[in-house]
Amino acid sequence: MLDDEHVRHDEVALDLPPDDRGRKRTSIYQPEQSGLIFPEMPEFNNHAEEREYRKKHLVAACRAFAMHGFDYGFAGHLTIRDPERPELYWTNPMCVHFSQVSMSNLILADHKGRVVEGRYAINRAGFVLHGAVHEEYPEVMAMCHAHTMYGTAWCATGRPLDMISQDAAAFYKSHAVIGASAGAVAVEAKSGLSVAQQIGLNRGVLHQNHGLLTCSRHSIDDAAFWFIALERACQQQILVESTGIKPQTLSEKTAQYSREHVGSDYIGWLHFQTVYDHIAATQPDMFD
Ligand SMILES: [Zn+2]
Repeated sequence: MLDDEHVRHDEVALDLPPDDRGRKRTSIYQPEQSGLIFPEMPEFNNHAEEREYRKKHLVAACRAFAMHGFDYGFAGHLTIRDPERPELYWTNPMCVHFSQVSMSNLILADHKGRVVEGRYAINRAGFVLHGAVHEEYPEVMAMCHAHTMYGTAWCATGRPLDMISQDAAAFYKSHAVIGASAGAVAVEAKSGLSVAQQIGLNRGVLHQNHGLLTCSRHSIDDAAFWFIALERACQQQILVESTGIKPQTLSEKTAQYSREHVGSDYIGWLHFQTVYDHIAATQPDMFD
């Protein structure tokens, strides 16, 4: 069921002045002064170029997950649709540590979990959940899931996040707690579908007794950054609760303002460029 109160992040139109060359700005972070070094959304001449870009950013997202300690054996899956064949998606190979994912071991799979390109096996549980979400929501471009320490711990409470910080506000009315199939390994197709149907337009999902999920209609960069942010928000919530002091929370108006200005899909993409550049510079084997 979709919740009407939950929003699409890309539908918020901010009234911002253009830059000094008259180019439209969609975020307060985009410089008004042209000619400065600043990440630009790439433009592609063909599907091959776009596929290459998406695969590189998927590899970097996997390695970012390793840097953050999000690995737990073979658990955890990240997916991004293929630009030419959107019914297929690129994902990390089964039983390869996030830190070892590279351009050459990514696999391309269909909704049924059949590997159509690549040498490695696919994670069955990953396929069930991701395949169901990608099939249910054609607009979802990318998705991340892992069994993280704080996310999984907070998910056990069955409670949504409180708006205790500007960072948490990125999930204001854009995250859900899903109890369906809670704690059961999601290998059954109907279980994956049940979870998928409850995700709705939410950016983040706290799957009770299981772990975190993020979905993006924008990019793997966006899904990966907000996953990192969601885990951090869960950690901060646990830290605050552990003090026994009732936290001050953001007003509804402030939380909404923060989400619109610093919590858009574009901002998720923008945040991730720092991570991508760091990994590309320090782990050149990601391109192997
Ligand atoms: Zn899982």
